[in-house]
Amino acid sequence: NGAAEPPPRLVLDLERLQTVPSDQAGPLQRYAATIQSQRGDYNGKVLSIRQDDLRTLAVIYDQSPSVLTEQLIGWGVLNPEARRAVEHQTN
Ligand code: C2E
Ligand code: C2E
Ligand code: C2E
Repeated sequence: NGAAEPPPRLVLDLERLQTVPSDQAGPLQRYAATIQSQRGDYNGKVLSIRQDDLRTLAVIYDQSPSVLTEQLIGWGVLNPEARRAVEHQTN
């Protein structure tokens, strides 16, 4: 840690997420729905999530955070700037 600039925001595209087949996106769809429910934030087209949530999702998907990040960007559900957030972390 100790970086001068803050890491970029992690922003999920919720509309796009609904178009990804649930055999792949199911865990992420449930995770995002849980966050929406906990926040009472139901009307957004996007959802900002915590840096820690990406680490948790990597455990759920049994992948490294950087590999998962590329997969989510490839699906079009995560903003490409999120790559820089993963570079900030020591894996
Ligand atoms: P909590 O973590 O104890 O957070 C309590 C409240 O502090 C949140 O209520 C929110 O108003 C504020 N808060 C905490 N961290 C942040 C932050 O990084 N940014 C902003 N803008 N506010 C923050 P809220 O939103 O009603 O969430 C209630 C509970 O739902 C949270 O309790 C947490 O347990 C869970 N939650 C909500 N969103 C997330 C999330 O993105 N990831 C995770 N892991 N849990 C979440
Ligand atoms: P931003 O972070 O670039 O977000 C742009 C817009 O994306 C937001 O406009 C909102 O419509 C949507 N958005 C982003 N994250 C979420 C989310 O988790 N849930 C939902 N429902 N929508 C989301 P909005 O609300 O008018 O906010 C404008 C700007 O105000 C934001 O730009 C951000 O810079 C600031 N802002 C809003 N809420 C927070 C917050 O909780 N924490 C911080 N630090 N800034 C916030
Ligand atoms: P944000 O609201 O702009 O918060 C940016 C960063 O400030 C957060 O990054 C976190 O490191 C710190 N932060 C803000 N509020 C709190 C707080 O109440 N407690 C603590 N311990 N740290 C806080 P992070 O965690 O990566 O979250 C990124 C974005 O995800 C937040 O941007 C916010 O838009 C959203 N978010 C995360 N957790 C919550 C939550 O519990 N409730 C809501 N409504 N939004 C959240």
